[in-house]
Amino acid sequence: MPQLGFGVWQVPDDEAEAAVTTALEAGYRSIDTAAIYENESGTGKALAASGLPREELFVTTKLWNSEQGYDSTLRAFDASLDKLGLDHVDLYLIHWPVPAKDAYVDTFRAFEKILADGRARAIGVSNFLPEHLDRLIDATSVVPAVNQIELHPQLQQAESREAHARHGIATEAWSPLGQGRGLLEVPAIVAIAQKHGRTPAQVVLRWHLQTGNVVIPKSVTPSRIRENIDVFDFELDAEDLAGIAVLDEGRRLGPNPAEFNAGA
Ligand code: NAD
Repeated sequence: MPQLGFGVWQVPDDEAEAAVTTALEAGYRSIDTAAIYENESGTGKALAASGLPREELFVTTKLWNSEQGYDSTLRAFDASLDKLGLDHVDLYLIHWPVPAKDAYVDTFRAFEKILADGRARAIGVSNFLPEHLDRLIDATSVVPAVNQIELHPQLQQAESREAHARHGIATEAWSPLGQGRGLLEVPAIVAIAQKHGRTPAQVVLRWHLQTGNVVIPKSVTPSRIRENIDVFDFELDAEDLAGIAVLDEGRRLGPNPAEFNAGA
């Protein structure tokens, strides 16, 4: 799985083709979408039009909460593949645990069938707290390859990262730039950016890469799409990393997975 990919949340379907095309031209090979984003069709059009060999692409999509359950998952997965115009995805994720529904174990059993049938090359979860991971791993036979969680310098998620390391799960960071809301103006980040002659977004993405996170920054602005992948020719030093370590506020921008039951 490429460590840096392109996220398309909040990109309307009719703009997704252009955004994903720009990303592929800029060198991204991993694209993160979801059924609930309603842009799997536009994403799929860009993948097809790119002419890139399928094996060079890494496509992730996610099962929405309302479709959790064994049979409904299999139907929803068919619909996602159809919209993407693909015969397999590289990674399929349960979007949220939805504790009120209590169906993620049955849902993951359907994921195991999709994996066994070769229609997903890997299966995983998103927004799972350590307690949800423990239960899932006890009850099923495949350890999720990935847990995609909200993670950025103001929400560093030490507890989840430790749980992932214990189970051998890759940590994927959503809203890696803190949704561009404030994080990129934090003086410590701006100072590190000036020191390296880079942008605050590049510093934050570099921090993720050096911390070991998979990242999927989103933008629809071509210059930013290119800027966000241009992060492989500089390195943060120990002083920079220490300056970012103290920015953790433990504050979420998104919902708390323990309570988020939309679509239940
Ligand atoms: P992000 O942290 O990637 O921030 C995106 C925003 O930051 C942009 O809309 C823009 O306003 C700004 N931005 C981007 N590049 C910039 C740059 N170079 N300079 C200045 N500003 C810049 O936020 P996100 O879209 O929430 O998260 C990224 C991806 O994560 C999503 O597109 C989606 O694929 C995924 N995601 C998953 C979940 C989940 O529940 N699994 C939830 C949210 C997001």
